Amino acid sequence: MDTDRLLDEHLQRARRDYADRRPISRAWHERARRVQPGGNTRSVLAFDPFPFRVASAAGRELTDVDGHTFLDLLGNYTAGLLGHSPEPVLTAVRAALDGGFALGAVHENEVRLAELLVERFESIEQIRFTNSGTEANLMALAVATHHTGRRTVIVFENGYHGGVLTFGAGSNPVNVPHDFLILPYNDTDAFDAAIAEHGSSIAAVLVEPMQGSGGCIPGRPEFLAALRSGCDDVGALLVFDEVMTSRFSVGGAQQLGGLRPDLTTLGKYLAGGLTFGAFGGRSEVMAHFDHTTGGALGHAGTFNNNVASMAAGVAALSEMLTPDVLAATHRRGDRLRTGLGDVFSASGAPMCVSGVGSLMNVHGTHGPVSSAADLADADDRLKEAFFFAMLDAGIYLARRGFIALSIEITDEDVDRVLEAAATFDPFAP
Ligand code: PLP
Repeated sequence: MDTDRLLDEHLQRARRDYADRRPISRAWHERARRVQPGGNTRSVLAFDPFPFRVASAAGRELTDVDGHTFLDLLGNYTAGLLGHSPEPVLTAVRAALDGGFALGAVHENEVRLAELLVERFESIEQIRFTNSGTEANLMALAVATHHTGRRTVIVFENGYHGGVLTFGAGSNPVNVPHDFLILPYNDTDAFDAAIAEHGSSIAAVLVEPMQGSGGCIPGRPEFLAALRSGCDDVGALLVFDEVMTSRFSVGGAQQLGGLRPDLTTLGKYLAGGLTFGAFGGRSEVMAHFDHTTGGALGHAGTFNNNVASMAAGVAALSEMLTPDVLAATHRRGDRLRTGLGDVFSASGAPMCVSGVGSLMNVHGTHGPVSSAADLADADDRLKEAFFFAMLDAGIYLARRGFIALSIEITDEDVDRVLEAAATFDPFAP
């Protein structure tokens, strides 16, 4: 049996069927392409033949302009942890907007949100807000190089810290020009060797406790612990990018792993689904932004304390994201990931799933996957076929196989996804 040819034919059919059922989305795509390069303003949302265009979203569902409704398993790449338009957030944002939204002054909710975050994340003594996770990482690296007076930043292959801090396959022409040392993820020996060789020039180690966009690859506990001790040995700052992983518990992945970074960056769901980013950590480091004690660094941003995000964040943290809610979503994710793994094993499809809790990624390889090297031979066509099969079943995940459960997803939804996945056959003629 020529599985290669069968898979190609399967995909051609899937793309054609997808397009045939979406004339309105296609027309919007053509219209968009005239004024937006590629027809979008966020590259990750593009896929062939064209992305469906969303008309509305509510709870745990999305509806496209062609009338198809999907169970939303993507949750806006983790920013949608609360589901769509949660009532406590809507109410808080409406009240904030009614009170005026272009203040150009400090206000109360930004303090409340800072307090809530400092309370949750043990390593964060002081915090500042940005408009995105990318900006949070840029600021963390800026303060780390300033604090240490050094230039080198260790990052990891496959790491993603924003569009201008991307370390996937090949070089990224839009990356910011820091002096990066890119090491393999989960490779403690390579890290120790780099520390031994370059220790005195290393300002910071920037790491995701689980690589998210790189394929939901969990950091091994011994690897993350080695980063902490290596940084201590040479006086470098350990920066945990918890933009995605902060949902693993109220205190983030660092609480689960019992680790204390010097700085942490946050974003995504923490403002209830609205635009957000934050960086924080040791007071001694954050003091560089404190003009009252002689700090020399400025930190600008017209919308850093925008009233909508601040109000949404306060509502999300104080009314919705309790330890129990986060733990239940985490457990549900574990069940889905294990279940999908069992489904792929049973069907014999060369696929696997990696991740932690409510974040996971389907791969076109048998696995296991613990670093970028394990994905080198993965067949991307399998993920694409899975994506279209799930869409056909009314289930939306990322084209790249990424899933981020929201707190709205139920056990019954998980059953439904597993049933749909069990019928998936990428080689079906
Ligand atoms: N860091 C991580 C780990 C991320 O996953 C992302 C976004 O996916 C970012 C940073 C960038 O965040 P934003 O898209 O808000 O700029």
